Amino acid sequence: MNFCRTLLLLAVTAGVIACQTAPVTGRQQLMLVSESDAIDASKQAYTQTLAPLQKQGKVNSDAALKARVDAITARLVAQAILYRPETASWDWQVAVIDDPNTLNAWCMAGGRMAIYTGIIQKLHLTDDEIAQVMGHEIAHALAKHTAERMSYAYAQQVGLSAAGAALGSGAVSQAALQGAALATTVGVQLPNSRTQEAEADRIGIELAAKAGYDPHAAPKLWEKMLNATGSRGQSDWLSTHPASEKRLQSLAALIPQMMPYYEEKTPRPVYKFKTARAVRAPTEHANAMRVGLWITV
Ligand SMILES: [Zn+2]
Repeated sequence: MNFCRTLLLLAVTAGVIACQTAPVTGRQQLMLVSESDAIDASKQAYTQTLAPLQKQGKVNSDAALKARVDAITARLVAQAILYRPETASWDWQVAVIDDPNTLNAWCMAGGRMAIYTGIIQKLHLTDDEIAQVMGHEIAHALAKHTAERMSYAYAQQVGLSAAGAALGSGAVSQAALQGAALATTVGVQLPNSRTQEAEADRIGIELAAKAGYDPHAAPKLWEKMLNATGSRGQSDWLSTHPASEKRLQSLAALIPQMMPYYEEKTPRPVYKFKTARAVRAPTEHANAMRVGLWITV
């Protein structure tokens, strides 16, 4: 799918057209927002998210679990840096958030990650499955998905304003605006999200295999996620995470080509995390432009 073509009209309205190519998959991306802007926004969002949790003693409170998550993600990050060497300068770090009711994990632009104890405990995740979760999330950051989503949001805003102005004021333009909003949600936002999810699955399973984690764990993980949600295909989850049999099949189909990476006998590189620092209290409101949020139960 050619996103640049799909959003050409909106991009022209914005006065800027910028296309980039995603790493690994080579997919064309519309980029109106720079990755460094996304990283700056994410840095604030990370602080805002973690500071109150840290105050409550809910960040990295289980030393053994933190060490386990660190050991897995350190191998994944080392592989991510091999794909994009410039990310070696990112502030890679992972927080384990003590929240037994939340099945969630994320990696923001710039490499700041978190995983919630709920997803590990409720799904009884193995190391291989944790590697699939974090590999998927790291893939979102590696493929600049936050900057891409910010670009889409920007293009939509500009496009909707232009549509409203062109149609004049009154009830008709309000209806047109609502129609346009619906069209962008259904026609742009949803496919974009699904495309990013599929891309993160594709990159994530490869990162994990190259880091020495069994690719068979990828479809198993999603099967566990599906079972945990109770009803398959519920709309709110579907809007951001199209978990389905098709997703399981797509991941399963990738296993044969991932096995040689997994079975490689050479030692796996390990990233050395910098010493953890305390997160300062947030100073201003930051909009969490996270992608890859999973579910809260
Ligand atoms: Zn995702």
